[in-house]
Amino acid sequence: MADESSESFLDPSAETAARVWRHVLDVLGEERARLPARPVGRPVDAGALRKAVSAYDFAAPVPPETAVDEVMALLRETSVHTAHPRYFGLFNPAPTVMGVVGETLAAAANPQLAAWSHAPAAVEIEAHLMRFLGHRLGYPADEVAGSFTSGGAEANLTAVLLALTRTWPRYGTGGLRALPGRPTLYASAESHLAWLKIAHATGIGRDAVRLVPVDAGLRLDLGRLAAMIADDRRAGDLPFLVVGTAGTTGAGVIDPLPELAALCAAEGVRLHVDAAYGGAAALSDRLAGALTGIERADSITVDAHKWLSVPMGAGALLCTDAAGLAETFRVTTSYMPGAVADTVDPYTSSQQWSRRFMGLKLFLSLAVAGRTGYAAQLEHDAGLAGILRRRLLDGGWTIVNDTPLPVVCFTDPGAAELPGDASRAHHAGLADAVVAGGHAWISPVTLDGRAALRACVISHHTTAADIEALVRAVDDARARSRA
Ligand SMILES: *Cc1c(COP(=O)(O)O)cnc(C)c1O
Repeated sequence: MADESSESFLDPSAETAARVWRHVLDVLGEERARLPARPVGRPVDAGALRKAVSAYDFAAPVPPETAVDEVMALLRETSVHTAHPRYFGLFNPAPTVMGVVGETLAAAANPQLAAWSHAPAAVEIEAHLMRFLGHRLGYPADEVAGSFTSGGAEANLTAVLLALTRTWPRYGTGGLRALPGRPTLYASAESHLAWLKIAHATGIGRDAVRLVPVDAGLRLDLGRLAAMIADDRRAGDLPFLVVGTAGTTGAGVIDPLPELAALCAAEGVRLHVDAAYGGAAALSDRLAGALTGIERADSITVDAHKWLSVPMGAGALLCTDAAGLAETFRVTTSYMPGAVADTVDPYTSSQQWSRRFMGLKLFLSLAVAGRTGYAAQLEHDAGLAGILRRRLLDGGWTIVNDTPLPVVCFTDPGAAELPGDASRAHHAGLADAVVAGGHAWISPVTLDGRAALRACVISHHTTAADIEALVRAVDDARARSRA
């Protein structure tokens, strides 16, 4: 270490940097090898964790390898391991290797994507990905506009800002007070409730979000939607946006997109499709049919950090309205570089200003797996979910959702007579028992008021043997709850 004392801690010698990188590779290799044998998650003592973290008072430097080892130990011992083959959880993926490489290269090169002129290759790579995704979703490739976002929530916020701006050109300068009434938006009761935060932030207010009841298949009920729009119009409100969800967070259900598109066209309101999770299906010729109608949406949300398995955060907002985005996010300053002919500056066409190269992790993952490699993985996941459904049915469980996506929701028919609260407690108890066993991670969910268990095949490390292990874990939990 003595010969390093003259080094800058912020910019160590090439030799030191190489030594740290080799150490990181060793650590990552070991994590990968050991992960399947570890518990997927375990209880955490928040006080002990806080104490361990605050041991870092930053008073004196710590050797880089020590810092890396200690942080990895904290993460390893406390996180729910979303990359684990038996994480059947929320839409958090096991990151692709090329995704992690992409994150690393993006951080090291650190291009500033705010302005095309600062990072032309990076901006063009992201624009190319938008055209690829948009085209797979059914938009004409040469009309696709949009950008990567921090996630689905920011993409959905962008959709609302665009919808307000396009519906009422005065909104941008005069704000909501320039409108002749209160804008209202519609999403199913099973939709992702980021809509409430978005309504809060845009000033339309949380009460302006109309949660439309779902039908027996947990899909947005079209008749109820039409009635709610009519009621709101009679009351003087201004319906402007309907949201269809393609892959609900709870049950992975896809709303009736063609019918929603027809209804929106007839009503003269915009349609946004939130396909944060399900949009990935567009990469598979076999699964894409489930998204039919999505191409008629005014805008679409897709999260690459869900079923496309790149590290967080990488969402995307796609549309065919470059002019609308330019109007929504327009700004001029004296200090930003000027626009370059025939290019788009992300800072004047999206919410973010300084912008990291979040598309690289998807670009490299797609380049190396190929679209067909992705499709094979998505179809494999869907096949595993099919196996899980059959095994659960054989074991006397009831399947309560219907979707081509690999989300399996099921209930214990032994609890069918229980009142709502008791049923919720029963199913939550089963999920807790499975998670406490350490062999698999599933979660309780409430679907249209009914308690259920939810298992999503989301990790590309999951195999048929992991499905069997999950079935054993839920069967054991149920047997113990009956004993
Ligand atoms: C995950 C999800 C979101 C929110 O996306 P983030 O990436 O978490 O911001 C929105 N809608 C749906 C349907 C989702 O699954």
